[in-house]
Amino acid sequence: MAKVSLQHLRKVYPNGYVGVADASFDIADGELLVLVGPSGCGKSTLLRMIAGLETISGGELRIGERLVNEVPPKDRDIAMVFQSYALYPHMTVAENLGFGLKLRGLDKAEIARQVGEAAAMLELQPLLDRKPAALSGGQRQRVALGRALVRKAQVFLLDEPLSNLDAKLRMTMRVEIARLHRQLGTTMVYVTHDQVEAMTLGHRIVVMKDGKIQQIDTPMALYNQPVNLFVATFLGSPKMNTLTGPVSERDGDLHLRIGEGVDLRLRPQGEALEKVRGYLGRELIVGLRPEDMHLAEAGPHTVPAQVEVVEPVGNEAFLNLSCGGSDLVLRLPPFDLPKVGDTVHLSYAAERMHFFDRESELRL
Ligand code: ADP
Repeated sequence: MAKVSLQHLRKVYPNGYVGVADASFDIADGELLVLVGPSGCGKSTLLRMIAGLETISGGELRIGERLVNEVPPKDRDIAMVFQSYALYPHMTVAENLGFGLKLRGLDKAEIARQVGEAAAMLELQPLLDRKPAALSGGQRQRVALGRALVRKAQVFLLDEPLSNLDAKLRMTMRVEIARLHRQLGTTMVYVTHDQVEAMTLGHRIVVMKDGKIQQIDTPMALYNQPVNLFVATFLGSPKMNTLTGPVSERDGDLHLRIGEGVDLRLRPQGEALEKVRGYLGRELIVGLRPEDMHLAEAGPHTVPAQVEVVEPVGNEAFLNLSCGGSDLVLRLPPFDLPKVGDTVHLSYAAERMHFFDRESELRL
C-alpha cells in the first residue's frame, strides 16, 4: 500500500491541447479516491499519467516516497482495470487470472494458490474453467478485477470499469468494489463520469472540468458546499434548481425577483447575509436542491408555480414545474400528487439555499 502524491501535474498533448492543466493533491494510503467529470474533462488522462501510460508534461508524481515521472508502468507497482476487460479469449478464467504470475516465473503450485485466493475473494471459483466467451459482462469484469488483484499492487487504478454493464449489474458491482476495497485496504483511484458512482464509492471525490480540478472533498461536503455552479449542478440527481434574478430589499427582507411579481425571500445565514446584501440591485443565482422545496398552502413566503410534468418513479416522484419563467424540479413522496396544469405553491428551506455570483459562478 502507498500514498500517491501529485504536484502541479500537467499534460499537454503533442497538438498543444492541455488535457490536464495543474493537478495537485495527495491520495492517502488506503484511500478510495474518485475522479469524476463530464466526458473530455481530463480524468482518464490524469489516471493514465499515474499509470505511466501517458507521459507527464510538467509537475511531479510520487507513489510512496518515490518520484515516478520517468518510471515505466511495469515498475510502478500499480494494477489497472479498464472499461474493456481485455481478457485473453483463448484462456480459461484460471489462466487469465494466473497469466501475469506465470510470466513472472512463479511455480504452478504458487500460481494455483494465488489464483484460488483471488477467485475466492471475487466468488469466481465455479467459473475457473470457463473461457471469457461463456461469461456474462459482470463476470468478465470480475475476472478483470481478479487479474488486478493477483498482482498485489500497491495502487489500483480503475478506468470506468463498470460503464459496459447494465444499470442493475453496475449497482451490484459497485457494492462489490466497495467491499473489495474494504477487504484489501489498497489505495484505489477510480475514474467515472457517473456522479452516482462517484458519490457512493468515493471517500473523497475530485471533480474536474476542462482539464482543471474544480473541487476535492468528501461526497457530502461537495453536495452541501459546492464551490461553484458547475460542481453544484453536476452532483445530485435530479440536479440542483437554479433561479436567477436581481436582489431587492423589502420590509427588511432580501428577495430575489424570479419573474413578473414573483419574489423569492432569501434568508442568508451568517457571513452570507452581508455578501448577498452586496448584490442589491444586481443579479444573483440562487440554487435549491429538489428535496429542499415543498408543496405548501399559499402564504406570504410561498411562490406560485405551474405543474408541467409529473414523474412517479415508485418510491418517490419528480414534479417538473414552471416558476416565474424558470424550470424547477421537486422530489416528493409519491402520494396526492398535483396534476399537469395545476397551479401549486412552493415553500423552500431558505437555510439550504446556495448563492452564486452570476459572472464568475463561484459560491458567495
Ligand atoms: P475524459 O477521460 O475525462 O473523458 P480524457 O482524459 O480522455 O477525458 O481527454 C481529455 C481531453 O484531452 C479531451 O478533450 C480529449 O479530446 C483530449 N485528448 C485525449 N487524448 C489526446 C491526444 N492524444 N491528443 C490530443 N488531445 C487528446
